[in-house]
Amino acid sequence: MSDRTILVWFRNDLRINDNEILLEAVRKADKILPVYCFDPYYFQHTETGASKTGNFRARFLLEAVADLRKNLQGFGAELIIRIGNPADVIPQLAQEYQVNEVYHHREVAYEETNISEQVETALWKMRLNLKHFIGHTMYHKEDLPFPIKDIPDSFAVFKKKVERDSNVRPCVPKPDHISVPEITDAGELPTLQQLGLNEPVDDMRATEYFQGGETAALVQMHKCFANADQLLKQKNGRNGSDCSSKLSPWISIGCISPRQVYWEIQKYGSNGNLLKLELLWRDYFRFMFKKHGQKFIKAKDEAQGTDLAPDAELSLQKWKNGETGVPLIDAAIHELNATGYISNQNRQVVAGYLVNTLKADWVQGAAYFEEKLIDYSPASNWGNWAFIAGVNDAKESKYAIVTKLPKELEAKTDFVNTWQPSSIDEAGDLVSA
Ligand code: FAD
Repeated sequence: MSDRTILVWFRNDLRINDNEILLEAVRKADKILPVYCFDPYYFQHTETGASKTGNFRARFLLEAVADLRKNLQGFGAELIIRIGNPADVIPQLAQEYQVNEVYHHREVAYEETNISEQVETALWKMRLNLKHFIGHTMYHKEDLPFPIKDIPDSFAVFKKKVERDSNVRPCVPKPDHISVPEITDAGELPTLQQLGLNEPVDDMRATEYFQGGETAALVQMHKCFANADQLLKQKNGRNGSDCSSKLSPWISIGCISPRQVYWEIQKYGSNGNLLKLELLWRDYFRFMFKKHGQKFIKAKDEAQGTDLAPDAELSLQKWKNGETGVPLIDAAIHELNATGYISNQNRQVVAGYLVNTLKADWVQGAAYFEEKLIDYSPASNWGNWAFIAGVNDAKESKYAIVTKLPKELEAKTDFVNTWQPSSIDEAGDLVSA
């Protein structure tokens, strides 16, 4: 009898540890075929030249895929890398390697599920099954105390019930061996240029360098918890919003799972409660997308959204360039443009300013974040923006959106001084302000 082979389609789960599709495939098959596909859909450019994926995130992703390949090679295995539409690539590889089944982790947001459906349809024509796993949230969908359709829209109620009636599952072990068929053409990692992007220029003002990959994610987690007392105390204290794990870029593409972070936090008892709360927000947005689909980010009242200022388009451009004239807003946007990362508090402040003061289109603000953020994740980005824009029922939750008084927006803080436009020249060098 011939060997049974399962194709493991890596997407936003670029890790070996706590990866159920990898472990299950290794257990159920004689051989597995690990595949990552760079889908040109995510690297397309808009009419204005903006890319759907900015260069900081693209570089981070390339590093993460390279690290996954290296880690698989540590098992004597190999990652096949292709550039193309997964609905073409996955079936072609399935045929070439006579695969018996394909495994992947189920996504929740519209574009991602649409791609899975196309792959599923193409495989179905070959009488192959695409098996869906759940593995992107801290709480497993099946352990929630309610079916998806009955998940409370209020975060406060969701939190209360989940914390009372559910438990986070233990992490799954990493496989002890991985066998792959003989691979003739593993494929090269594309360059940024091949993806239509320039190399990002690292800004010397950035306080963090985010290196993609599971290896760096584990280093970051341990670094973060090495200072656990400080981190968690500050999180619990009044300066909480200034202090963060900075794990979001890795969590977003699954270099580390929220469950791994949860079990690390558990070691620190109730000190870690606020960090768990942040992870619960992440779960909540994903479950809301699962429950409502695109309706979660659609205004209930169709008239909403027509209330834009006459100069909304111009204001949006100034906001994107960090040229509103409001020091804190401009500094935060300069940091975003120069690094791909800004704090949660500053995300709330700049988003709130776009929506409430400039009365510009929040959808375009969210799309700008989608391009720029190194940790972009559809449910977290669009969910948070929809909250701030107040377009759905979730606004009834106790969500403490940071609003700033005019004098705080104008204040020349250290942050503002660091990120003011005049402090850096075109070559990326610091100049005196
Ligand atoms: P920590 O405070 O250390 O929290 C731990 C983890 O919890 C984070 O890594 C993240 O995975 C999750 N988390 C924390 N806060 C939130 C939140 N409000 N919503 C959802 N998840 C959360 N986060 C993203 O990961 N991707 C996005 O695209 C994204 N877009 C956002 C857009 C707006 C307008 C706003 C207001 C927030 C957005 N967030 C997004 C949430 C949050 O700003 C980031 O997750 C956080 O700043 C990451 O820093 P950290 O890893 O230090 O978080």
